Amino acid sequence: MASVLIYPATHDTVRPAIDRAFEIFPINLSGKTVLIKPNALRTSSADEAIVTHPSVLRAVVEKVETLDPAAIVVGDNPGVASYGANEECFEKTGLMEAAKGYYRNIGNDSVNVSFNPEFMSLVSVSRIIMETDIIISLPRFKTHGLTVLSGALKNSYGFLCGAQKAALHKKAGNPTRFQEVVVDVFKIRVPDLFILDAVVGMEGNGPASPDLRDIGLILAADNAVAMDSVIATMMGCDPSCLHFLQKAKEDGLGDYDLNNINIIGKLEKIPDFKLPPLGGEAITENPTIQEMLASKTNFRPKVDQSLCTGCGTCVDQCPVSALSLKGDFPEVDAGTCITCFCCQELCPEKAIQLG
Ligand code: SF4
Ligand code: SF4
Repeated sequence: MASVLIYPATHDTVRPAIDRAFEIFPINLSGKTVLIKPNALRTSSADEAIVTHPSVLRAVVEKVETLDPAAIVVGDNPGVASYGANEECFEKTGLMEAAKGYYRNIGNDSVNVSFNPEFMSLVSVSRIIMETDIIISLPRFKTHGLTVLSGALKNSYGFLCGAQKAALHKKAGNPTRFQEVVVDVFKIRVPDLFILDAVVGMEGNGPASPDLRDIGLILAADNAVAMDSVIATMMGCDPSCLHFLQKAKEDGLGDYDLNNINIIGKLEKIPDFKLPPLGGEAITENPTIQEMLASKTNFRPKVDQSLCTGCGTCVDQCPVSALSLKGDFPEVDAGTCITCFCCQELCPEKAIQLG
């Protein structure tokens, strides 16, 4: 049976909760490479609660340091509003400092992996997702207009590089299918441990809503479906109504039935919690967000010849050979490009813009 720990915490006193999480869910990190993946959705200030709070990341990093790993990497691929701004996102949110030197831009090295052909037969994910020994996922307690909540399963959507996120959003076409995409992305590599920042949570029309709630909790779990079921219950939503949890259960990823989850701590519904509509209409009917999604999928990398030194790094590293040197400068084959934006992330001269 999966377990979910619910433990009191403030941003100044996170560490006891993290210590307890590792007691309940012991994990052998000795000699292993560990990826710690916060939710770094977009450039914002830490107190907007859009990203995992830096205090939670720092506490996890410091705990992992004590467990003798061979290497620690902290990274994420930010969402559509911060494509190509991985460092800026980590700096401005405070996650860079909290990462204690372990930050890596995981968006600049990708691999193609097989995916559900109903959506796309191949997707581009950060190489470290496929190669690391251990993934510790650090979602934040948030609502989401398309999935109702953004928790353990949704945090794995950041496995996708660059505009792969927007491309899959577009391919999905509607909130129900998007929830299925979220589960398929999660399945690419199921993380080993989930630690959720619910010190301050988000309600209303997330994942970047201004409506915040003091909750004062850290949650931890060894199973994403169980954790998201607990989050849904806290939000006042029946987990069995959530399509992504139904699909995850069908796919054998876990059980959302609270009778089959070992709850360690006190599970309480948050009074008068503001949910987005269950069907995902909050984003579907928001033309500004739809336009942004569409525009991001139309982007292609464009080389600024006044900055480019012709080093060829981007040509060598493009996972689908969409770039080639024409004379002194690289050019993109727009039809071949899968908009992973790895080239933009790794260009040493910052010569690639999204045009
Ligand atoms: S990596 Fe940057 S500097 Fe090097 S060839 Fe590509 S665009 Fe030019
Ligand atoms: S050219 Fe396109 S596919 Fe190649 S690295 Fe750049 S964004 Fe990715």
